[in-house]
Amino acid sequence: MKAAVVTPEHSVEIQDKELRELEHGEALLSMEFCGVCHTDLHVKNGDFGEVPGITLGHEGIGIVKKIGPGVTSLKPGDRASVAWFFKGCGHCEYCNSGNETLCREVKNAGYSVDGGMAEECIVVADYAVKVPDNLEPAAASSITCAGVTTYKAVKVSQIKPGQWIAIYGLGGLGNLALQYAKNVFNAKVIAIDVNDAQLEFAKSMGADLVINPAKDDAAKIMQEKVGGAHAAVVTAVARSAFNSAVDCVRAGGRIVAVGLPPESMDLNIPRLVLDGIQVLGSLVGTREDLKEAFQFAAEGKVVPKVTKRPLKDINAIFEEMKNGKITGRMVIDLKL
Ligand code: NAD
Ligand code: ZN
Ligand code: ZN
Repeated sequence: MKAAVVTPEHSVEIQDKELRELEHGEALLSMEFCGVCHTDLHVKNGDFGEVPGITLGHEGIGIVKKIGPGVTSLKPGDRASVAWFFKGCGHCEYCNSGNETLCREVKNAGYSVDGGMAEECIVVADYAVKVPDNLEPAAASSITCAGVTTYKAVKVSQIKPGQWIAIYGLGGLGNLALQYAKNVFNAKVIAIDVNDAQLEFAKSMGADLVINPAKDDAAKIMQEKVGGAHAAVVTAVARSAFNSAVDCVRAGGRIVAVGLPPESMDLNIPRLVLDGIQVLGSLVGTREDLKEAFQFAAEGKVVPKVTKRPLKDINAIFEEMKNGKITGRMVIDLKL
């Protein structure tokens, strides 16, 4: 079967891979769609360590073709997901306290185990979240990482109805952060992106204020216009966005870090202490978060903008992503 495999030269090659037999608790998915996340670009480039030979993909949706021994949570014909949180150990303090994505023995699809950018994918049945019947599978692929990550980040921000939340970066993740913040949490949204096309897109989805930090001082505008945001979610892959987020929130504000530029951010200690600022990292979401995130999309509160592409386009998609040319999400259609 065909799979998008990382090469030692930091490129992606479509290779023929033979899958092993299913082990206890595993299921085989016939893949339908797999979104291309900016994390795949980091993985391919070796930003988190070299992983040649791994099959990419953690926004995967497929139909169960076969189940291994002992599987009770999935049956052939079910539609299920392949997420970044592929499997935890199931017995550590994190797994047992609602923080399973932090498990020290975690496996991540498309990074430490083969992912869903392939015609077929082996999943651990108890960790593959089922997709609701009334959610279109290409849209579900975007929820599997971009959706659940931003839904969880907005939860972590503890934003209340009517409060102002700043979303930095309106790409694949950010546009869903905006929709969850507005349509599920009833917050007022400030969209910040260096790309005017993303800001237009944000406006069309109901952003209450849009700012281009390449032209204006985003933090200053937010302090002047709304007295500072109550919280900020940063999905931008840029250190400057994290630094701006520190300045944009009001006293007691929360900054939720989601984007992964391989750099450090500046945090002035008096600002942190005297203004009671909180900075939190947020990593994807638990299986339960994904179930909730799917449900809001199935209800039409969050509508991913997806463009379907064939598997052979993968390197071209990474080029477009690097150059900021993508609106919404590029989704590999494995049947194209
Ligand atoms: P993307 O490329 O689709 O979007 C990034 C957006 O940031 C673009 O719209 C770009 O124009 C904008 N941007 C760039 N510089 C900016 C700046 N200085 N200020 C404001 N906006 C700016 O990427 P994506 O798929 O949305 O992923 C974003 C980041 O989130 C990546 O680093 C990815 O690895 C990370 N990520 C983290 C998690 C997690 O669990 N924390 C999950 C998924 C992705
Ligand atoms: Zn992702
Ligand atoms: Zn664990």
